[in-house]
Amino acid sequence: MADCIFCKIIAGEIPSAKVYEDDDMLAFRDINPQAKVHVLVVPKSHFATLAEMNDAQAELVKKCMKKIPQIASSLGLSDGYRLIVNQGEAAGQTVHHLHIHILGGQNMGEKML
Ligand code: AMP
Repeated sequence: MADCIFCKIIAGEIPSAKVYEDDDMLAFRDINPQAKVHVLVVPKSHFATLAEMNDAQAELVKKCMKKIPQIASSLGLSDGYRLIVNQGEAAGQTVHHLHIHILGGQNMGEKML
């Protein structure tokens, strides 16, 4: 998608602090971290929400979820971490390319799950 910031990051047109990349996904540090460790895992196919996801994209999301423990381990999140996947503007989704937030590196508390 020409006007998608995450597609531009995937294409290397916008720099990012990469922590993991393979053929299916890119993981990079959030530019405005909400925890000591805040990384975004982004499938390399443009779709905004789970409601728009096709079967091939669902496979990519599955691969992302299976890879996240390895990514989290590489980030030192051995005590646990939180995953957030905002769906739509009312949920606070600002980038309309599906992404999984990994948040950790501190006690996340019990508010908002
Ligand atoms: P969401 O609100 O769930 O759509 O999350 C989008 C996230 O993308 C926010 O936490 C932003 O800080 C982050 N973000 C936006 N632009 C960039 C960028 N160029 N590099 C890294 N993270 C970004």
